[in-house]
Amino acid sequence: MRTIDDLDVAGRKVLVRADLNVPLQDGRITDDGRIRASLPTIETLLARGAKVIVCAHLGRPKGEVRPEFSLAPVAGRLGELLGVRVVFADDVVGASAHAAVGGLGDGDVALLENLRFEPGETSKDDAERGAFADRLAALADVYVGDGFGAVHRKHASVYDVPERLPHAAGDLIATEVSVLEKLTERVERPYAVVLGGSKVSDKLGVIDNLLGKADRILIGGGMVFTFLKAQGHEVGKSLLEEDQLDTVREYLRRAEETGVEFVLPVDVVAATAFAADADHDVVAADAIPADRLGLDIGPESGKLFAARLAGAKTVFWNGPMGVFEMEPYAHGTRAVAQGLIDSGAFTVVGGGDSAAAVRQLGFDEAAFSHISTGGGASLEYLEGKTLPGLQALED
Ligand code: ADP
Ligand code: MG
Repeated sequence: MRTIDDLDVAGRKVLVRADLNVPLQDGRITDDGRIRASLPTIETLLARGAKVIVCAHLGRPKGEVRPEFSLAPVAGRLGELLGVRVVFADDVVGASAHAAVGGLGDGDVALLENLRFEPGETSKDDAERGAFADRLAALADVYVGDGFGAVHRKHASVYDVPERLPHAAGDLIATEVSVLEKLTERVERPYAVVLGGSKVSDKLGVIDNLLGKADRILIGGGMVFTFLKAQGHEVGKSLLEEDQLDTVREYLRRAEETGVEFVLPVDVVAATAFAADADHDVVAADAIPADRLGLDIGPESGKLFAARLAGAKTVFWNGPMGVFEMEPYAHGTRAVAQGLIDSGAFTVVGGGDSAAAVRQLGFDEAAFSHISTGGGASLEYLEGKTLPGLQALED
């Protein structure tokens, strides 16, 4: 994959597809993490004398102009962080965009309005998407793909524009890809994977693919009850996906056959209701009372999981171990996060809620080797899928 070092950008118009999909409340940015993550590429291009045109999406306006999804607040914050004025175009490929781009000097920045105001951006119709990609590509001389969070989407700005312009990967994508390669093609063993979160059905593809790659798979979170049930245990009122039982049994069988170790919790925090103030107790994982639901792995399981991470050289973690948003059920997630840090392994955290849990529980993000910015994109990569936005940057 070419990087921006391979591109000649001085004096040229460079279209950067960034991921600026930040959370907004009443028009104010509540977490500017994604804007900050986009800075290195933009700064490098500016320092090399490029005219930088940034494009991005925000939320799901579904092809219509919806003011509440405007990128205008992002333009302001981007300018503050870069320390330069960012010219905001209030359309994507219209008169305002052309005026903004036309006025750029070397080392200047423009931000286009939300790509998803244009139906062509997300269209499933190749011709419609292509027509929009033509208009977007016409604004620039060169394309840099840096919106890792969107690379699993076959969208015009991600997939079709790089077909039309000389292109390269920005720093963010280059970093994410090199991390993902260390979890797939270039793994240092032992390789442990911790999976949790709410639904096993969201993660089946990942489990399937990692069964052939990981040495050890630790399961917690809401998905664990489908595993416990598959092993013949009753799970009370816990989250259970009956229709996935056969698939999970098949995974357990395959793991045994190939020598992959599945580690399941030995105890569970079982509550009378899905609430922070509900009665809750630690029970054995094979003795969950019929009227209770499991909302976290228990303290013995926390220790067990940390111990099973201790010897690993590589750890990938996706999905909280319990309902960490409520303090009584946050212990398991805390124990696993600490276990990753203490392992000294190459540690990667993927998934929006997992990354949020790390922050919310007060861990130093720098204590992990990498926290992925693109949950969905990382998971699809680990499922072994071809990601359109990476494919487009390859050729
Ligand atoms: P990620 O975004 O990291 O991929 P998911 O979206 O799969 O993670 O799942 C996160 C959610 O899973 C959290 O909101 C958490 O409350 C929930 N969860 C974890 N354990 C349980 C459980 N035992 N029962 C119900 N929900 C759970
Ligand atoms: Mg999530």
